[in-house]
Amino acid sequence: MRSELYIDGSWKAASDGRTLEVVNPATEEVIHHIAAATAEDVDLAVKAARRAFDTDGWPRTSGAERARYLRAIAAGIRARQAEIARLETIDNGKPFPEADWDIADAAGCFDFYAGLAEQLDSNPEEPIALADARFTSKAVREPIGVAGAIIPWNYPLLMASWKVAPALAAGCTVVLKPAEVTSLTALELAAIADEVGLPPGVLNIVTGAGSVAGQAIIDHKGVDKLAFTGSGPVGSKIMAAAARDIKRISLELGGKSPFVVFDDSDIEKAVEWILFGIFWNQGQVCSATSRVLVQEGLYEPLLKRLIEETNRIRIGDGLADGVLLGPLVSKKQYDQVIAAIEAARSAGATLACGGRRPEGFEKGYYLRPTVLTDVPLDSAAWVEEIFGPVVCMRSFKTEAEAVELANDSRLGLAAAVMSADDARAERVAKAFRAGIVWINCSQPTFTEAPWGGYKQSGIGRELGRWGLDNYLETKQITKYVSEDPWGWYIK
Ligand code: NAD
Repeated sequence: MRSELYIDGSWKAASDGRTLEVVNPATEEVIHHIAAATAEDVDLAVKAARRAFDTDGWPRTSGAERARYLRAIAAGIRARQAEIARLETIDNGKPFPEADWDIADAAGCFDFYAGLAEQLDSNPEEPIALADARFTSKAVREPIGVAGAIIPWNYPLLMASWKVAPALAAGCTVVLKPAEVTSLTALELAAIADEVGLPPGVLNIVTGAGSVAGQAIIDHKGVDKLAFTGSGPVGSKIMAAAARDIKRISLELGGKSPFVVFDDSDIEKAVEWILFGIFWNQGQVCSATSRVLVQEGLYEPLLKRLIEETNRIRIGDGLADGVLLGPLVSKKQYDQVIAAIEAARSAGATLACGGRRPEGFEKGYYLRPTVLTDVPLDSAAWVEEIFGPVVCMRSFKTEAEAVELANDSRLGLAAAVMSADDARAERVAKAFRAGIVWINCSQPTFTEAPWGGYKQSGIGRELGRWGLDNYLETKQITKYVSEDPWGWYIK
């Protein structure tokens, strides 16, 4: 396990020597310490990234050259996949098979953006047809500059990859700050980048507190672009900080995503996707379908099956075989989720199952998967993201009512619909005010497809070619090709 900051191609302790504890959420034991970067450390990282961008030539490398680094990083991740997945599990708590899937996806993300980096070489410019034949014009894409990337704790290496891979592919240099409670795998990413010979300063990884290291990144005048995934309140701060210097931003924030199940759906398939939609990663998923709307005729039998299956989910240490629900990431998150469940009950919701620590677990941030019914529409449980294994169930009568309830949110990250009637499912999918919509499933995520939210769930899109656009500027180059003088001042 690494513990130091990775700045300008070297490992170093925090300038004031401070560290943060790394706690295994399955045991509550302190398993390690990592450097807590100061504003001074962040300044060094940004200066290194600036030099790599402004003078060392990273933005002038060919896409093919950058692709070679990205593919080497992907191979480096794959070569150590099981070891890195194990680190993710002891740091974040998620079951090992989920962590293993994340790490494979992270490697795939680097390969995918290697392909897009190569395409930048084959399409370096786009001719623009001008109405005025005295000029020719073309558009070229260029990297924005130094990207400051700040990520949450729920998919530590994957979130790092979603930002680092497209940024490097575009020709940007990066200062990345992982979440303070899950930094171990980001440091392994730095080690892999170092091993494959990525030039110093191109990727810098600073671990530390959001209020210190994170704040120093968003306030730094040497950063051109802020790429953030995390909560709405921190997203607002980032937007305000970006506004001061007109920094480019992309924000991926929270959700309170609906899953609409029509009564022509297969009950077993519906239950399986509802479970996957809310209990995967302990429900700590921005796109989790945490509000489930089931059509009247199917509601009672589906709820009964859902509770049966929810109570059968195997809980435990993510490293143990067969575990499908690990501990929540931290004491803070555990306390917040328990408080949200209590508030829901005080507001009138019924606890259909879960809501407390499972029997036999004295240590670890374990919570039984929770189903709430009769949740008032104006209660925090229905309106606000809980970010834990808690699903709110409700019935509806008509398609119009389902769409209205689904869209009645200030958030709009994701939504899902299930129906045997394909035309209806497509109609509802188009009616959802959300950036990611699933039909007959919930949560599968693909590197090739755009990811991001409507409304207060964010700005911009990650992944796919849209993810590359986050790190590119568009420049027009226009040439006067007429032999005639311009003839305005000099006739
Ligand atoms: P958070 O906003 O508390 O923290 C996210 C990151 O921001 C961390 O690295 C933190 O250190 C940093 N940070 C905190 N204060 C800062 C400041 N003042 N300046 C700069 N950086 C600061 O969120 P979290 O608790 O880590 O993650 C959970 C949230 O993330 C949820 O709301 C969830 O929906 C959201 N999320 C969204 C997506 C998505 O793709 N839309 C994906 C994962 C998580």
